[in-house]
Amino acid sequence: MIIVMKPHAKPESVQRIKNMIESKGLDAHISNGKEVTIIGVVGDKSKLNDQNLEIFDDVDKIVPVTESYKLANKKFHPEPSLIKVGNTVIGGDSLVIMSGPCAVESAEQVLATAHAIKKSGAQILRGGAYKPRTSPYAFQGLEEDGLKLMKEAKDETGLSVICEVTSLAAVEAAVKYVDMLQIGARNMQNFYLLKEVGKTGLPVLLKRGLSATIDEWLNASEYIIAEGNPNVVLCERGIRTFETATRNTLDISAVPVIKEKSHLPIIVDPSHATGVRKYVKPLAMSAIAAGADGLMIETHPDPASALSDGPQSLTFEQFDLLCKELRPLANLMGKKF
Ligand code: PEP
Ligand code: MN
Repeated sequence: MIIVMKPHAKPESVQRIKNMIESKGLDAHISNGKEVTIIGVVGDKSKLNDQNLEIFDDVDKIVPVTESYKLANKKFHPEPSLIKVGNTVIGGDSLVIMSGPCAVESAEQVLATAHAIKKSGAQILRGGAYKPRTSPYAFQGLEEDGLKLMKEAKDETGLSVICEVTSLAAVEAAVKYVDMLQIGARNMQNFYLLKEVGKTGLPVLLKRGLSATIDEWLNASEYIIAEGNPNVVLCERGIRTFETATRNTLDISAVPVIKEKSHLPIIVDPSHATGVRKYVKPLAMSAIAAGADGLMIETHPDPASALSDGPQSLTFEQFDLLCKELRPLANLMGKKF
């Protein structure tokens, strides 16, 4: 449930309710809006049965929250969350673009990509060092050596960097080198891993599971936030449907649905959604038009020789052109880029 305070409620009134909630063994999450403060209650609500909350000073109303996710719920936190990654803010008035190779392959590849995407306007370099491949015989990633190359690229260009983590060992290594952790689609419901990235406090990009509903996805984000880490950004990357013309089916409606249900920022990955280079631009455009806070786009110096996801990766020239083409649309949607 949430307790909505009257406009300009006194801080003492808020504190008194918080103390009472905590004395019952429940958690109270305060969200201070411009005029109205909201107190979100997490835990077994039956413990509050003997309390008439409406008679506390400055309480306006009590609203039940029926969804199982609470901390990710917009009712708990009506203002959009702004998530800071290095010097970049996701969820604010700028379009944020993360770009780079599917997998880190070499120092030359990562550095060339970092310089190229920065020149085109991207703010965050992506690159997988731990690759969750469908085949156990496919390239699995350079692991910690790959993380080091990402850190080198960060130091050389000033870009922030994001890498996917697939295990506790990967989390422990990645926190030494990266600005943001990525949970891939295949691990969206690896609840143990979600708790571990929650404990790091680093910003987390949570990709939607291949067959996950929006409700399941928001519950996955709740696992991270419940560990005390509110720095979660969601990423729609396409879901499994009966359609085979594209690798996945981009659920563009997830963007407005998430905006209605949650305060967390949402970005779109048209590369994994389609698996086809020529479809990246139209879906990137549609994501911006739907109100996404950013994009994740795979780029490679020579997609034909990429060790993974070459067919969906853009060349630097294609990425630069795309950035130029999407700029006016981003501005029209109220996003600086
Ligand atoms: C990736 O971003 O490289 C990746 C593996 O994506 P997803 O988890 O969305 O398949
Ligand atoms: Mn990929």
